[in-house]
Amino acid sequence: MKVLVAVKRVVDANVKVAAKSDRTGVDIANVKMSMNPFDEIAVEEAVRLKEAGLATEIVAVSCGAAQCQETLRTALAIGADRAILVESDEELQPLAVAKLLKALVDKEQPQLVILGKQAIDDDSNQTGQMLAALAKLPQATFASKVTVADGRAHVTREVDGGLETVSLSLPAVITTDLRLNEPRYVTLPNIMKAKKKPLETVKPADLGVDVSPRLKTLKVVEPAKRGAGVKVPDVATLVEKLKNEAKVL
Ligand code: AMP
Repeated sequence: MKVLVAVKRVVDANVKVAAKSDRTGVDIANVKMSMNPFDEIAVEEAVRLKEAGLATEIVAVSCGAAQCQETLRTALAIGADRAILVESDEELQPLAVAKLLKALVDKEQPQLVILGKQAIDDDSNQTGQMLAALAKLPQATFASKVTVADGRAHVTREVDGGLETVSLSLPAVITTDLRLNEPRYVTLPNIMKAKKKPLETVKPADLGVDVSPRLKTLKVVEPAKRGAGVKVPDVATLVEKLKNEAKVL
């Protein structure tokens, strides 16, 4: 079983980002970039399927600038076998990424495609769903447990108030939730080994995909700063303030 895993290069989860002064976006100049955390979980899950003898090959894919090669090398160090960079300097919105992944699904014919449930930079939570629709594949989003047997995937999903388990015929698209697994640390020997693994670069035009943006960002602003708090002398004053100032009672 071949598994395709999508990995996005995003601002590191520990970086506190700031909006650009002209409000056109988030300032990512000289900021640490990493693999999207949900995509690390996706690669880890693919590697576990391979270790369990269920997957035979793991192909990691990233779409974006040349620097996404670093993200792909991380995926290779976690355990992916080869990588494909779809190189583009344009802003790639979820629909464009879904179309690129669909073209690669047609070419590579994986039995399973694993993506993160959302990218922590755009928080779109769209790409997996769009890919499933474009490729006409069954999908299970927000997976917290995945088992594969007899040509089907059983996926447990975290839903409001409990867990739902769905059964999908393969090939299928799965998106990962936080509790699916805990990704392993990448070891130095594996980083060295990853340097020798194959990494192919293609352009969107090679895949016949038009990646022009369909959405326009009007403005990006930071949340309003919270005002300073006040101390109240007693409960009566608190209740009075909640009623007449905050108007929440
Ligand atoms: P989003 O729909 O943007 O929240 O992203 C959901 C998931 O789609 C991510 O966790 C990735 O697995 C995948 N994805 C989104 N953008 C890219 C990209 N540029 N390259 C590779 N994978 C991506």
